[in-house]
Amino acid sequence: MISENKIIDGKSIAKSIREEIFHQANMLKTFNIIPGLAVIQVGHNPSSTIYVRNKVKAATEANIHSFIFQFEESTSTEQLKMKIEHLNNDPKVNGILVQLPLPNHIESMEVINTIAPEKDIDGLTIENVGKLVTRQKGLIPCTPQGCLILIKSIEPVIKGLQAVVVGRSNIVGRPMSNLLVNEDCTVTIVHSRTYNIEKICEKADILVIAAGKPKLVKKEWVKDGAIVIDVGINRITKFATTKLLGDVDFDNILPKVRAITPVPGGVGPMTIACLLKNTIEATMGQKGLMLGKNGDIVKKDNFKSL
Ligand code: NDP
Repeated sequence: MISENKIIDGKSIAKSIREEIFHQANMLKTFNIIPGLAVIQVGHNPSSTIYVRNKVKAATEANIHSFIFQFEESTSTEQLKMKIEHLNNDPKVNGILVQLPLPNHIESMEVINTIAPEKDIDGLTIENVGKLVTRQKGLIPCTPQGCLILIKSIEPVIKGLQAVVVGRSNIVGRPMSNLLVNEDCTVTIVHSRTYNIEKICEKADILVIAAGKPKLVKKEWVKDGAIVIDVGINRITKFATTKLLGDVDFDNILPKVRAITPVPGGVGPMTIACLLKNTIEATMGQKGLMLGKNGDIVKKDNFKSL
């Protein structure tokens, strides 16, 4: 779906996913199931507080029950792991999300890997990462999953296309490149140590940028007719007003591209929609249910309760 010609309307695509999720959550009610999402926040980082608030609001609107656990900045790795183990065993909780980044003294990977893989709705545990890399079914990280949906809203079959991903984080860049390679794209990852980055980017039919550097990507970096997905969220404060900027020089790039995501209103809403999607998927997986051919929810054959 493209509004204003080439601008990918992430808000509207996310809205239709959320309506679908709402419908699925209502169908789960007929099985006496209310999906439960547990959100853990450590400390009081203002951006994290906004993200948590938005996720909880979206979950509530989708008929997903949320439980928020707020920990002090001084919380230890062990305390967080204990909480997660408790949530792993709580049947009311189907999805567990740890809001990142965690304070520096906490072993983030250790904490994340304590989440039971079937409740890991951010798709960040080693088990879910391994499944993505080896093309097995698992829970897929929300932001790259959302980016792929946006790309496919423009070009449903991307087999054989050249894709370049700027950034190699565990949350966005790496899983994004795996998703694209699983779609048979030819993928290059670039990062802060890459030489001649603009020369690599200008070959991309699909360019996904997740660097966290405002206006990093200039129009010379972009191939004519490329699909550009800007994941970056940079808060810029000028004259006491804060504006959100992406990682690309949007106004100058717009005339060249086939399609581009705006910031805000592009990838951001998709991250939340995919989080809800993963929560429903996780719930169904734990309860031995799946989506049937007609979009209804059906029991899996041979399901053994955990
Ligand atoms: P990280 O800081 O973890 O990773 C940034 C990546 O970009 C690193 O791999 C880094 O390279 C690379 N990078 C940094 N500077 C440059 C540069 N000048 N040239 C090339 N590569 C560079 O960030 P995240 O992946 O977590 O997030 C990236 C951005 O996306 C942020 O703005 C974040 O706010 C946003 N974001 C948005 C979401 C959404 O829902 N819209 C969700 C998640 C993130 P190196 O590895 O060498 O350091």
